[in-house]
Amino acid sequence: MVAKLVISLDFELMWGVRDHRTDQSYGDAVLGGRKAIPEMLKRFSESQVKATWATVGLLFARTRDEMLGYAPLKEPGYINSELSPYEFIRSGVGANEREDPLHFGRSLVDQIANTEGQELATHTYSHYYCLEPGQTVEDFSADIESASAIAGDAGHTFKSIVFPRNQMMDDHVTCCREHGITAFRGNPPTYLYRPRSGKENTLAVRGLRLLDGVFPVSSSLSYNAPAVQDGVVDVRASRFLRPWNPKMPLYSKFHVQRVKAEMEHAARCGDTYHLWWHPHNMGRNMEQNLKQLDDVLAKFRTLRDQFGMESVTMAELA
Ligand SMILES: [Zn+2]
Repeated sequence: MVAKLVISLDFELMWGVRDHRTDQSYGDAVLGGRKAIPEMLKRFSESQVKATWATVGLLFARTRDEMLGYAPLKEPGYINSELSPYEFIRSGVGANEREDPLHFGRSLVDQIANTEGQELATHTYSHYYCLEPGQTVEDFSADIESASAIAGDAGHTFKSIVFPRNQMMDDHVTCCREHGITAFRGNPPTYLYRPRSGKENTLAVRGLRLLDGVFPVSSSLSYNAPAVQDGVVDVRASRFLRPWNPKMPLYSKFHVQRVKAEMEHAARCGDTYHLWWHPHNMGRNMEQNLKQLDDVLAKFRTLRDQFGMESVTMAELA
């Protein structure tokens, strides 16, 4: 098989972090992420690299009324009601993108859609948590319907999904197929990366994943043929591209080296390698983060010339 590089980005602004961060503690990273998006798009275009942008449906809304207008009638029934954003939308969100750039992003969605080779995918309507107690598959289905409706009215149809926090069970995947989705980003098939609820994501697990970012704790994370689950292709993740860390610059250096070595392994074996991150991961220390990205893209261009490695979106791989 021809080796392939898949890149996916979870585009969410504050919607992906609002349960554990505040505008004060993290708003600067999210605003920085807004600036990083055009920079990434420019680099992807220059290198003819395709990416899949898994976008929170709320970011398609131009106004708060639109956010609520497309909201599902049945809101998610999480036991921890804080996880559902709708109460906050009614009481805490600004009127539009100009007033509240942390929660609105339609201008960026349009920029992504207008850049050649980029795929708009869904990250659910409300940044939905499939493993949090209290939610049901019916709630999830209603959420995906909202995401499809708002994107459809903007002229887009989803073929791929990234589940928030990479949480999903078989029923959620089946539900996606019923909504016409053909690809999802599954987790690497190792103990370290299996889907976990917030509570199960212990310090020990996170520490081991950090270590795996530089040393081969887990075995090779590239793969030859993607698995298919109930008719939906599991374009599973290989690795999270970690943001450059000013406290551990050496760690970051070795991390990028590990990513590049894994890409080369995939290119030599005809494997698929799937790298992912969030735009807001590059929102702080943007210069160093873009340098890391440049390094990865330069490696890809070399592998494309040497081994014919291709850049594909999740939908194309499926
Ligand atoms: Zn997310």
